[in-house]
Amino acid sequence: MVARTRKQLRRHNIRAKKRLGQNFLLDKGILAQLAAAAELSLTDTVLEIGPGSGNLTVELARRAGAVIAVETDRDLEPVLAANLSEFDNIQVIWGDFLEQSLESLWQLAPTGLDGERKVVANLPYYITSPVLIKLLTAAGHRPRLAVILVQLEVAERLVAEPGTKAYGSLSVLTQYFTCPELVLKVPPAAFFPRPKVWSAAIRLRFRDQPAVRVQDEEFFFKVVRAAFGHRRKTLLNSLHYDLGERMAKEDIATALSRAGIDDKRRGETLNIEEFALLTAALTELLR
Ligand code: SAM
Repeated sequence: MVARTRKQLRRHNIRAKKRLGQNFLLDKGILAQLAAAAELSLTDTVLEIGPGSGNLTVELARRAGAVIAVETDRDLEPVLAANLSEFDNIQVIWGDFLEQSLESLWQLAPTGLDGERKVVANLPYYITSPVLIKLLTAAGHRPRLAVILVQLEVAERLVAEPGTKAYGSLSVLTQYFTCPELVLKVPPAAFFPRPKVWSAAIRLRFRDQPAVRVQDEEFFFKVVRAAFGHRRKTLLNSLHYDLGERMAKEDIATALSRAGIDDKRRGETLNIEEFALLTAALTELLR
């Protein structure tokens, strides 16, 4: 497959574009494992972000009812057309995924497909965070499950537990909406061209309800970002730094105490339930 893809790209005079994060995944075993990790059935609709030359798209089309693949680089059209020609359940949408409406993309699925909506992608590294945020916050249009290949370091952040170096606001956002699992580590040699770092596939199972109940999600995430914003400050000082315009330091200290959280702790030691308690206590004092 490595030789075939390289030959195809050469034949169509295509060079992998670094600025678009084009590292094509060529290891057949890993492609199959990624598709299998999505637990597809023939009634599912899969949204693929960045099909590239179609290596993963083909694996998805064999296992799902429909594949909607969004690719930004039109130069790949001849290779993609050649590789996908035997499938009639794939639609390629040309454009930047970040500018697409998820609702409209899901609507492209044929009527009658009553399985689950899933996302599978070997993501270009430069848009990992915005893509994740878009999927996580797409109220009403979230997938049921997503399998996403990201840099190993990012994967470790998504599954990180409180008190670890990798734990940050993206961990909390991800764990609030999903149950994330690291399912597979992938070495640079599986790609062409080879990236400098290892990658990992993350499976996100979207929750029916967020992990904790909060009244105002926007404020909850503001508190989370404030807590992580200044890793060397204590929680009290971090929160005061970001929320100080709206609240006196003594009020923040009161909210921490009411939430049962020592104000000398660092933000990165709080678990998601503690963030919810803290947000509720702060909200109460803002009334
Ligand atoms: N899926 C292929 C594979 O596994 O070999 C290609 C993966 S490659 C890491 C990322 C792909 O995403 C490239 O084809 C790139 O052109 C495409 N891409 C980059 N930015 C994009 C964007 N904003 N929207 C849609 N596709 C994008």
